[in-house]
Amino acid sequence: MTGRVQSKVVTAAAREALIERGVTIEDIGQIVQAMQIPYNPELTLEECMYSVERVLLKREIQYAILVGVELDRLAEQKKLSEPLQTIVESDEGLFGVDETIAFGAVLAYGSIAITTFGHLDKKKSGIIERLDNTSEGKVNTFLDDMVASIAACAASRLAHRLRDEEEGISKYEQAVRDEEELIG
Ligand code: MG
Repeated sequence: MTGRVQSKVVTAAAREALIERGVTIEDIGQIVQAMQIPYNPELTLEECMYSVERVLLKREIQYAILVGVELDRLAEQKKLSEPLQTIVESDEGLFGVDETIAFGAVLAYGSIAITTFGHLDKKKSGIIERLDNTSEGKVNTFLDDMVASIAACAASRLAHRLRDEEEGISKYEQAVRDEEELIG
């Protein structure tokens, strides 16, 4: 088992990567709230931020964040080899690998996450739009899609949690489901 990286190290690195690139939990929570408020008018920003926090505990999401942010960083530092350097730096429209990685990360949260991700990818709401319109020298080719992915997962979680609440499941059942969610 030599060389295996502890989960808590990956969790911390993924969170730091987002913060370092200027994305807060609140930024993502705001997108989640906008997505879910039509179905749950009483949904608070805090509940949305909590859902984002839960999603950020999931390994597949963390790995996707680390890969995406690393490529953005390297492109900013002009450290990728050509032609990838120019493709990532210019956010080439037909590249699509940024969307593919982010899309892979939503699969664990089911169909609502998938359709919400597709919507956010087209509509680019909240901080996603800001990341998409980068200033000179900044590269967010992968990050904008990862933010959409995290928001889509958090929105799907909330949709399912709302149904659980409507059905009055017990705190114990809720805890069991919460734990199950984090496997994978
Ligand atoms: Mg992109």
